[in-house]
Amino acid sequence: MSCKEEQPLLEGYFDGELDLVRNVEVEAHLQECGACSAEYQGLQELRSVLGSGSLYLKAPAGLQRRVQDAIRGEAPTVRPSWLSGWWTPLRWASVAASLVLVALVTWNVAPRFSPRSPDETLAREIVDSHVRSLMPNHLIDVPSSDQHTVKPWFNGKVDFSPPVVDLQDQGFHLVGGRLDYLGGKPVAALIYQRRQHLINLFVWPSPEDANSTQASNSQQGYHVIHWVKSKMTYWAVSDLNTKELGDFITALQKQLP
Ligand SMILES: [Zn+2]
Repeated sequence: MSCKEEQPLLEGYFDGELDLVRNVEVEAHLQECGACSAEYQGLQELRSVLGSGSLYLKAPAGLQRRVQDAIRGEAPTVRPSWLSGWWTPLRWASVAASLVLVALVTWNVAPRFSPRSPDETLAREIVDSHVRSLMPNHLIDVPSSDQHTVKPWFNGKVDFSPPVVDLQDQGFHLVGGRLDYLGGKPVAALIYQRRQHLINLFVWPSPEDANSTQASNSQQGYHVIHWVKSKMTYWAVSDLNTKELGDFITALQKQLP
């Protein structure tokens, strides 16, 4: 990540508003960039100054009462008999103003929270999971290059048996398996390695009968490829280039049931 990419994210990072992937990226950048880390320190100092209390103005005693009295004084005293006490024109006006405010806020904020397709949402979750797995001691629950060790390890941990294939001859080294959670349910994660690149292959039963072709997607520099075969859902994610990730999937497909 460059300074230019990092700059717009710094305040979001400071306020704890970034997703996991961005958070990790900004953290890594701050470790190695003196200028940005100085700016981050500046934000921290500003926060501690603002929080110190010297800049706070305490409301004078009785202010709350005076405001409440003023509000009560404004309420019309004569109300149409068919309206309950609450729904005076003044109240309607304030409700209307609130609705306009809500509409404006929604309009401004909505693009950032627009509903995504389920696959896009899942792809983000997959990338988050992949990044989390790269943190120290998170990658592997069962370290083994032996498919006959990895496959039975999932017995009793998930209610299906994930196909585990050996791709050593094709240049993809099985390093182990992990129990992970996606969309609130346990899934099998199989980890393969190509040079220094790791591939997480997530597997769980598909509710669909039909096989689906591969759909690919790039998120935050990671490639995500998804398909359904023989009633199993597969999601592969890696920072490996698309060509070699494609080779991985071709080799894998040949051996999958
Ligand atoms: Zn920087």
